Amino acid sequence: MFELQEQHRMVEKVFRAFAEKELLPKVEAFEKGEELPYDLMRKMMNSLGGGAMIKEAMLRRVEKMEAAQAGKEAKKAPEDGAEALERDPLIPSLILKELSRVSPGYAMSWGASLGLCGQNIMNKGTPDQIRAYAIPVLSLEKIGAWALTEPGAGSDAFGAMQTTAKPQGDFYLLNGTKTFITNAPYADVFLVYAKVDRGQPKSEQPVQAFILTRGMKGLSTGKPFEKMGMKDSPTGEVFLEDVEVPVENLLGGSEKQSMRDGAKESLGSERSGVAPMCLGIIERCYELSLKYAKERVQFGKPIAEFQAIQLKLADMYIHLQNTWNIVFRLAEMGRTGKRDTAFVCASKVYTARAAVEVALSAIQIHGGYGYMKEYHVEKLMRDAKLLEIGAGTSDINALTTARLELGLA
Ligand SMILES: Cc1cc2nc3c(=O)[nH]c(=O)nc-3n(C[C@H](O)[C@H](O)[C@H](O)COP(=O)(O)OP(=O)(O)OC[C@H]3O[C@@H](n4cnc5c(N)ncnc54)[C@H](O)[C@@H]3O)c2cc1C
Repeated sequence: MFELQEQHRMVEKVFRAFAEKELLPKVEAFEKGEELPYDLMRKMMNSLGGGAMIKEAMLRRVEKMEAAQAGKEAKKAPEDGAEALERDPLIPSLILKELSRVSPGYAMSWGASLGLCGQNIMNKGTPDQIRAYAIPVLSLEKIGAWALTEPGAGSDAFGAMQTTAKPQGDFYLLNGTKTFITNAPYADVFLVYAKVDRGQPKSEQPVQAFILTRGMKGLSTGKPFEKMGMKDSPTGEVFLEDVEVPVENLLGGSEKQSMRDGAKESLGSERSGVAPMCLGIIERCYELSLKYAKERVQFGKPIAEFQAIQLKLADMYIHLQNTWNIVFRLAEMGRTGKRDTAFVCASKVYTARAAVEVALSAIQIHGGYGYMKEYHVEKLMRDAKLLEIGAGTSDINALTTARLELGLA
């Protein structure tokens, strides 16, 4: 369980080569907003044979769903790469890690589109919704966004939610504003959470998810925000003004008692995605620091010979090994379907803190050079900080862990 198998090493190798050769040279242009990351994501997927493979596998899955609903047996087909990938959650984690070694921002945009938007629709949508929205997002023909946070509803995303969906015959009328949404400025498909308003008090309005698309009348998005880090991941607002969303676009086709739980599940998967991103940051920062400490000479010897530097490297190594173990365990939980929310939240707190600490140590070990863009640890530090804020802040995740352990949640 705690070792990489042959196929895992192959994934690491392929994505490391891609990240170094194709992604790294683009990071500056992405960070400056001169280029968008999406074409490179498509290139990445297509050059690895992914787009067509995912499309086929997903279409087969829909056929199976429909056959099961009709009480028939679907045609048997040999397992393909996409299904193997689903069976082994360590593979997507390794992809996230490899991309995050070079650009956590790029990895985040990729994960938000495919995981939070595409995979969510795939898992909870109707066959028609899967065909129309999930498959194009999962094959990167379209870019997805997952819109929960609002200007006044961050940590209290459900309680303070102001976005409403008023049922009006064969459509819902959506109004509200979402903010800090990854990919929003350029996304084609938006999974938007709103409270269904039938005139009851706000606290009794059920939260439901709706699939919206760019071009719907009344839907608009803001310009990408200027940010401290994750600059190569466009973030922005989504404005909803009397958007008529057909009832067929209600995720899953009918109102659920507790879509709030569905959204919380998605938050769980978002949190599970944080650890592999942190692993990429930690691994890269550690490797760069180890190398630099051996090469950089001060007071007539390599700085690696000073114990203050060795202690920093030892702490980095401890965080690296712990984070690897967490990633292995999260993947195993994904594979077996075991749910342990306290562990998922705690692992998010630990790995995000570790990534920030390790990136700061890397800058310190590199001295003035570490503060310069050229040495890359500067970008990894800026991007790492977001991981303590997104997917539920570290404090909120720590409190959830404590409440679960205390039996209060
Ligand atoms: C770059 C970026 C990308 C993002 N992408 C997405 C996305 O794709 N989709 C999406 O829906 N959202 C996204 N978010 C939003 C993100 O999930 C929120 O920023 C996060 O949930 C925190 O909400 P907030 O910013 O409103 O902070 P607040 O909730 O206002 O929190 C402010 C501070 O108060 C603390 N706090 C709040 N409540 C409590 C409490 N009860 N006890 C103790 N401390 C508390 C918090 O820990 C934090 O330190 C993104 C954010 C960023 C910055």
